[in-house]
Amino acid sequence: MPLHDPRTAELAKRLGAVRQRIATVVAGSQPRASAGSPTTEPTLIVVTKFHPGADVVRLRELGVVDVGENRDQEAAAKALEVADPGLRWHFVGQLQSNKAKSVAAYAHSVHSIDRGSVAAALGKAMVRQQLLDGRADLECFIQVELTGPYGALVAGGQSPTAGPGGRGGAAPSYVLELADSIAGTPGLVLAGVMGVAPLGATPEPAFQLLAEVSARLRSAHPGATGISAGMSHDLEAALAAGATHLRVGSDILGPRPAVL
Ligand SMILES: *Cc1c(COP(=O)(O)O)cnc(C)c1O
Repeated sequence: MPLHDPRTAELAKRLGAVRQRIATVVAGSQPRASAGSPTTEPTLIVVTKFHPGADVVRLRELGVVDVGENRDQEAAAKALEVADPGLRWHFVGQLQSNKAKSVAAYAHSVHSIDRGSVAAALGKAMVRQQLLDGRADLECFIQVELTGPYGALVAGGQSPTAGPGGRGGAAPSYVLELADSIAGTPGLVLAGVMGVAPLGATPEPAFQLLAEVSARLRSAHPGATGISAGMSHDLEAALAAGATHLRVGSDILGPRPAVL
C-alpha cells in the first residue's frame, strides 16, 4: 500500500491528530511526573471493527502495532487476511465462552472478561494454543460495570451485590474474586481493568470509579496495572484518570460503514 494512496494519507492525518491529543494530555501531566510519579506513554489501540483488512495494513505502515476488534468472526478473518506477526490483536467486545478457542488463536489480549466461565474457557483454549505455537500468555482485562447502580459509587463504597454484572461488565465488588481466578489460570495473565463510560453522561465519575477499582485490584495483584479506558470522544478524561490503554476507533478510521 503506497503511502500516497489517498486512504493512507487520510488515516495518517487522523492518526496524527489523535496522537497529538494524547501528547497534549501527557505533556500536561509532566510536572507531576518529574515530582516522582513517572508517567508512561499510554498504549493506543486502534479499533478497526467494520473497516477492511486493507486499512489494518495501512495503519501498520503508519507505525500502528495494536489493533482492536469487537466481534470474533470479523477479527478472526481479518487477522488471517492481514497475517502480520508484528501486530497485536486486542479483543474488546462481548465474549461468549464458545468463541474462546477462536479468540485464543489470534488475540494478544481480551479486554472484556466479566465472568469466571469466560476466563476458564479462554485459559483452556490458550493452553492448547500454546502447545501448538508456544505463544505468550493472553493478557486479560476485567471489564467493570460503570453504569447503573454502580455509577454512583464513586467514593470507594461497596457495591450492593457481588456477581457478574449486566451487559457492561462485572460489578466492582466481584472484580477481586474474578481477578483471583484469572491469576490462577494457566495461559492467562491478569493485565488490569477495562471500562466504558456511560453514553450521554460526563465520563469523569465513571473513570474515577474505574481508577478506584484499579487501585483495589493492584493492592491484591500488584502486576495488574492496566487501565483500559477512553474512546474517541473521551480519551482526554480517561488519560486524566490514569488510563494506560486507549481504544480509539472512529476518530482514526472515520465513521463506520453502515453495511459490512
Ligand atoms: C468500538 C469500540 C471502541 C472505539 O470506539 P470509538 O468511539 O469508535 O472510538 C472502544 N471500545 C469498545 C469496547 C468498542 O466496542
